[in-house]
Amino acid sequence: MKRYLIAGNWKMNAQLSANADLLAGIVPHLSATGAVDVAVCVPAPYLAQVQKICQGTCMNWGAQDVSAHESGAFTGEVSADMLSDFKSRYVLVGHSERRQHHLETSSIVAAKAQRALAKGITPIVCVGETLQEREAGQTEEVVKRQMAAVIQQVAHCVSELVVAYEPVWAIGTGRTASPEQAQTVHALLRAQLRAASANADRIRILYGGSMNPSNAASLLAQADIDGGLIGGASLKSHDFLAIVAAAQAL
Ligand code: PEP
Repeated sequence: MKRYLIAGNWKMNAQLSANADLLAGIVPHLSATGAVDVAVCVPAPYLAQVQKICQGTCMNWGAQDVSAHESGAFTGEVSADMLSDFKSRYVLVGHSERRQHHLETSSIVAAKAQRALAKGITPIVCVGETLQEREAGQTEEVVKRQMAAVIQQVAHCVSELVVAYEPVWAIGTGRTASPEQAQTVHALLRAQLRAASANADRIRILYGGSMNPSNAASLLAQADIDGGLIGGASLKSHDFLAIVAAAQAL
């Protein structure tokens, strides 16, 4: 039986009072029953606040990025050790907004995944093709290449990863991959992970890209979709809880 992971990505949307209100609308309604893990990935300055609110509850928390370096002269960077100080369980690596706006290459993403794993933090490795790449028939090649870089770097602990397939054309656009389109790519990723690890079936492969309460159930019902990475809808308590409920009902 699957154990789903529903993870919110707040992106650069947070303020102390808004965070408190949002979490007050979600955390008390989460129950330990049901095969669903729930998390929020928040901007690093709010990790302390989110830790304080969420510790001892069913809500896990994490960050949205981590440095590829261990420590030292890297102004503005946040290290895996720093994330560990706030008991971060997860960290996003390779989100398409970082690949696109911060020019993160797959080898940087792989180094970040390794740094996180070395400190016991689960990296949520994001992969996905642009619209141009999909239309050129390059989806498989692109996602496999992005995945391969991480597999190669963390060869000994591939099964510790969480993967998120996030077609770039579906992120924040309201345009979702159909369940069949998503399942096709998830199955490719699963096969690639199986070739790299005997324990690949325990790796959760999340779908991300305009997941919302109306499309969550049909996406999450797919054989190789083990959860969701939720951007916009994670900022609305009702929507986020409805997605969690959809996973619980499956
Ligand atoms: C994301 O940012 O990871 C994401 C999936 O965003 P949205 O749900 O808004 O498309």
